[in-house]
Amino acid sequence: KTSTVIITGASSGVGLYAAKALTEKGWHVVMACRDLPKAKQAAESVGMARDRYTILHIDLGSLESVRKFVQAFRNTGKSLDALVCNAAIYMPLIKEPLYSPEGYELTVTTNHLGHFLLCNLMMEDLKHSADPRLVILGTVTHNPDELGGKIPPQPDLGNFEGFTAGFKAPITMINGKQFEPVKAYKDSKVCNVLTMRELHRRYHDSTGITFTSLYPGCVADTPLFRNHYPLFQKIFPWFQKNITGGYVSQELSGERVAMVVADPEYKQSGAYFSWGNRQKKDGKSFIRQVSPQARDEEKGQHMWDLSAKLVGVA
Ligand code: NDP
Repeated sequence: KTSTVIITGASSGVGLYAAKALTEKGWHVVMACRDLPKAKQAAESVGMARDRYTILHIDLGSLESVRKFVQAFRNTGKSLDALVCNAAIYMPLIKEPLYSPEGYELTVTTNHLGHFLLCNLMMEDLKHSADPRLVILGTVTHNPDELGGKIPPQPDLGNFEGFTAGFKAPITMINGKQFEPVKAYKDSKVCNVLTMRELHRRYHDSTGITFTSLYPGCVADTPLFRNHYPLFQKIFPWFQKNITGGYVSQELSGERVAMVVADPEYKQSGAYFSWGNRQKKDGKSFIRQVSPQARDEEKGQHMWDLSAKLVGVA
C-alpha cells in the first residue's frame, strides 16, 4: 500500500524538495499550501509525477483555515502515515507586526500556533498507520549553544508573559516585550522544537507516533530569505558556501527530510537530527542536543498549556 505524507509549505524550498524526494521513494504527497497555482507550478517544475501528489489549501496563519484543511484532508478518504510541519515565514525587515485573523502576531501564528493546532488534530489520523511519523523542521538559529545560533537577537520565551496575556495587540511577542521580527522567527522555532518534545513526552507511548525534528543544514538559497535585503540574498549563500561551509542545496535538504520521514534509522521518537554546521561530503546525521530553552521540560509544559488555550484545543 502506498504511504501518504502531508507536507506544509511544499510550494518552495525545503518542503518542495522533500515532496519530490518522497514521491521518488514511492510515497503519495499531500502538498498543504496557501497558493494553489504556485504549488501546482512548483510540483511541475521539479518533475513530480502527476499521480503522486495532491494539492490541498491551508493557510497556517489562520487557525480556521487549519481546521478546514483537516476536514478537507479527511474528505479525501486517504489514510495518513506522516506529517511534516515545514512551512514558515521569516520577515526580518518589517517594522510593524502583522496579525492573523484571530489577532495573533503572524510569524508565531504561522510557524508555531498553526502547526501546533495541526499536530493536535492530525494525531487522530496518524495513529492508525503502521509506522506513523510527525516531523517538525527546526533550525540551528534556535540554539545559542551552536555557532549558527549566536547571532543576536537570540530567542527568549521569557516566562510566556505575552502568551499568558492573550497574545493580542498591543502584545506581539511571546515574552510580552517589544516587537522584533527576527526574534519572533527564532522564538517560533524554539516553540517548534519544544512542541516536538512535548508531543513525544505526552503521546508517543499511547499513539506509537515517532516525533522528530531536524536541522537540514543551511539552505541559503531558498526563498525563505525573499523578504531580506537584496544584497543579503546575494552574499548569504556565498558566505555559507565559502566561509562557514554550512551550505546545503535545496535538493539535499529535501532528501534529508525524506529520510527522517521514511527511513528506519530515523525512527527515534524525541530526537533532533542534524548533519552539523559544516557539511562534509557524505556526512552522516547525528542526534543533536537542543538548546537549553528547547529542552526545558517545565517550559515545554507551559508552552503546551498556553498554546492549547490560544488555538482552542485546551
Ligand atoms: P521557503 O520560504 O522556501 O518555504 C516556506 C514555505 O512555507 C513556502 O511553501 C510558503 O508558501 C510556505 N508558507 C509560508 N506561510 C504560509 C502559510 N501562512 N500557510 C501555508 N504555507 C505557508 O523556506 P524554506 O524552505 O527555507 O524553509 C522551510 C523550513 O525549513 C522552515 O521551517 C525553516 O524554518 C526551515 N529551515 C530553513 C533553513 C534554511 O536555511 N532555509 C535552515 C533551517 C531550517 P508560499 O510558497 O506560498 O510562500
